[in-house]
Amino acid sequence: MTADRHRILIGSANPGKLREYREILAGLDLELVAPTDLNPVPPEPAEDADTFAENARTKARAYALATGLPTIADDSGLEVYALRGAPGIRSRRFFGEDATPHERNAKLLALLDGVADRSARFVAVAALASPDGHVELFDGEVRGEIAEAPRGEGGFGYDPVFVIAGDGRTMAELAAEEKHRISHRGLAGAKLRTRLAGGI
Ligand code: IMP
Repeated sequence: MTADRHRILIGSANPGKLREYREILAGLDLELVAPTDLNPVPPEPAEDADTFAENARTKARAYALATGLPTIADDSGLEVYALRGAPGIRSRRFFGEDATPHERNAKLLALLDGVADRSARFVAVAALASPDGHVELFDGEVRGEIAEAPRGEGGFGYDPVFVIAGDGRTMAELAAEEKHRISHRGLAGAKLRTRLAGGI
């Protein structure tokens, strides 16, 4: 067995996603590395497909082919019913490439000012690509609604404005392990974890 056998790249430049996959996959016999741990640092793949699944597949495959490492990539986002599914696959860029998470949340709340139906869902697709280009997909979603004002300090991105259906707290008000039990990424990650426990 070579040293690389259990090395897996988490193909993401997003610190929130990197942290969450490290937490979700903790305890498995794997060495999880980030793109910036590698030399040379692999280029960040383009994200120009129309679905979360295709974006996750493309990103994982590009990283795996560039590095020779099995790779996990995640494409995820927030879909708001009243915005016909936006920001959706454009969740990171929808409110401007350089907007901070705080600014994005403020812009989302402004867009929904006075809107009664605030239903939303978070969606994640995790792709596991092997260096030969084979890809497996794992998905998860969580339903909720957009809050009237941000609450909570945990998580990242849109978490402070996403109220979990049947719970009443925002995603940012949960401890990390609680978020992983119910979140889109936690549910996709649980399936991925079962798959990885069976061997690479
Ligand atoms: P991606 O890197 O294009 O997949 O961007 C995903 C974007 O969706 C993130 O930058 C966040 O804005 C948002 N997002 C995805 N998952 C979460 C989450 O768990 N909490 C909050 N925001 C999220």
